[in-house]
Amino acid sequence: MLSLPDAIARLLAATPALTETEQVSTFDALGRVLAADVVSALDVPPQDNTSMDGYAMRAADIAQPGTVLPVSQRIAAGQTGGVLAPGSAARIFTGAPVPQGADAVVMQEQCEALDLGGQPGVRVQVSPSAGQWIRRRGEDVRAGSVVLSRGSRLTPQALGLAASVGAARLSVVRRPRVALFSTGDELVMPGEIPPESMPPGAIYNSNRYTLRALLQAAGCEVSDLGIVPDRLDATRAALRGAAVGHDLILTSGGVSVGEEDHLKPAAEAEGRLDLWQIAIKPGKPLAFGQIRKDGERPALLIGLPGNPVSSFVTFLLAVRPVLMALQGMAWAEPRGLLLRADFDWPRADARREFLRARRNAEGGLEIFPNQSSGVLTSAVWAEGLIDNPPGQTIARGDAVRFVTFSEWLS
Ligand code: AMP
Ligand code: MG
Repeated sequence: MLSLPDAIARLLAATPALTETEQVSTFDALGRVLAADVVSALDVPPQDNTSMDGYAMRAADIAQPGTVLPVSQRIAAGQTGGVLAPGSAARIFTGAPVPQGADAVVMQEQCEALDLGGQPGVRVQVSPSAGQWIRRRGEDVRAGSVVLSRGSRLTPQALGLAASVGAARLSVVRRPRVALFSTGDELVMPGEIPPESMPPGAIYNSNRYTLRALLQAAGCEVSDLGIVPDRLDATRAALRGAAVGHDLILTSGGVSVGEEDHLKPAAEAEGRLDLWQIAIKPGKPLAFGQIRKDGERPALLIGLPGNPVSSFVTFLLAVRPVLMALQGMAWAEPRGLLLRADFDWPRADARREFLRARRNAEGGLEIFPNQSSGVLTSAVWAEGLIDNPPGQTIARGDAVRFVTFSEWLS
């Protein structure tokens, strides 16, 4: 058996990063991976500005609370004021540049507007300290600095940061092209046969939905090739066809070594394949190989086990690193959180186990009662997986490492 880190190291070693990039509108770049650093050409904010509605002044002009100053100018956001005359204040509104000469803003709630014989004035009820309520030029971003790094996935807030330095378009890695198919003669598509007419032995093809969505969530272009019959010739033909125009072929089912498992002989005829036993639970068997293409780099092939929870978990554990590497992202083991177990897990397993779990209101973890690899309900109930080392039992109160699905999918 192969340890998970060894399996991932082998996968990564065989995965070349895609070299093609494209320019996309920042509006359309959510979830894409940056192909180049985003460098700011300006300071953000571009000038010192006020973070409050109020009055700008020199702190030293306020000898004590209650000091009255004439108001010499009014500066709204989007305007720039003149130099502030000594001994005067400027009426100022959030986001407006602080006028030259002022070094503090007093919020309007601490001021009283006055009429000084036809001229506006203000009574400042507090003693301001220099710098208060001023957002400094460049405190967010310095001109010349890298605000977003190549190889990072663009989140909504990253798009906003790119826009804040004026980037209307971004250079991103082209999406990985992935062909997906399911194997299994027992599989039936929802919508094709209604539940009440299911033939004996048939089950609905759930992996197709889970894996397709996982691939899309990971930023891939998916070619969904449907269900391939459990026959050697059909599997070979499917692999040969799937290799064309794709970086990766992802399959589910048929990776055991039963008579009905044709992926290995089919892939060996069309390229090469290793069947791995990874020391994890769920998801022990995993196939990894390559399918030849005419005159091109071969397509990678990953065969996931058919059990729905196994294929979901092995996607997170083993396919995600490959998709990240294809897109030029650095893969690292998810950090997770150390949390208290509010359950007992008395039976240690020789394999590293990934238990479907979620947090309770007390901040501890609970696990789904049925951890079988066929029980997909567990993966929907759960919020993430507890990563339990081989040979380890868990008792209530123990600290365990929990990785949320969103961390795995980020
Ligand atoms: P296999 O890996 O082909 O031996 O399949 C293992 C188990 O997963 C069997 O019980 C299959 O019926 C089930 N299975 C295989 N493929 C799928 C699928 N696409 N959707 C749901 N269950 C599946
Ligand atoms: Mg099968």
